[in-house]
Amino acid sequence: MIRPPGRERLRFPDLTADLAELRLEPDADTSLIGVSVAALATAFAIDRFSTAVDMGRCSALLAAQETVLLTHCHSDHIAGLIAWLSAHTRRHRGQPTRVVVPSGKRSALVAALEIWPDLDGVRRRVDLAEALVGAEPGSSVDLAGGGAATAFSVRHNTTALGWSVTARESDRPLVVIAGDSTVEPFREDPGLLDASVAVVDCSFIDAGTRVAARLGGHGHLDDWMELLPDLRCDFLVLAHLQPGTTAEAMLDRLPEDLPGTAIVVPWVSRS
Ligand SMILES: [Zn+2]
Ligand SMILES: [Zn+2]
Repeated sequence: MIRPPGRERLRFPDLTADLAELRLEPDADTSLIGVSVAALATAFAIDRFSTAVDMGRCSALLAAQETVLLTHCHSDHIAGLIAWLSAHTRRHRGQPTRVVVPSGKRSALVAALEIWPDLDGVRRRVDLAEALVGAEPGSSVDLAGGGAATAFSVRHNTTALGWSVTARESDRPLVVIAGDSTVEPFREDPGLLDASVAVVDCSFIDAGTRVAARLGGHGHLDDWMELLPDLRCDFLVLAHLQPGTTAEAMLDRLPEDLPGTAIVVPWVSRS
């Protein structure tokens, strides 16, 4: 990661393209690898727990994960699920196959996968009704490798959840993925983001778009800067930015001195 001169608590990932993969290490044993660009794709792997969060696109690493925790069913978070089902059940045959989806969307997703054309191989290999599990705020999911995930409620323009991922030996989450959401749930309870790494929705950065962000169920850079003094995460990753957002544009909009204690990582590419 790159620290811009004079900006003590700001880091830019060393990415050359919008959909290049970011790698973060919440601790020595854990890495979080993936992409998050508004409208294009959000998908992360936490290989230690054989878990993916969202599946906006698939990759070899994502295909190897046994559990997919979905934040919601917008296409940029779920479009890779068909590829994941196909690749995971074929190339990793016999491994557990589980998709955890907000309860209110489970039956529609099962129905869609039951009729998706040319998915017969997947339907032969797994019982989709069994593989798709509903979750609600407060639901807890045991993960491989001694991990656990807990769902919490967020505020988007459709049924959506955030996910907090913890190693069983520790109380503090390693990673919190807030999904698509306004900043409101975190203003009400900043403790939700008390984790080594918190990945949050910063879809909007321009002045004058704050109300539009909230109405669309998204976070705005100014919301996060206002909340920063209350946050206890070590790293605050500003994700789900618009395609083409540059480091220069972020630098223009960020305050010289960041309040609070978190290191801020705007997830943008260099060019
Ligand atoms: Zn999204
Ligand atoms: Zn969304």
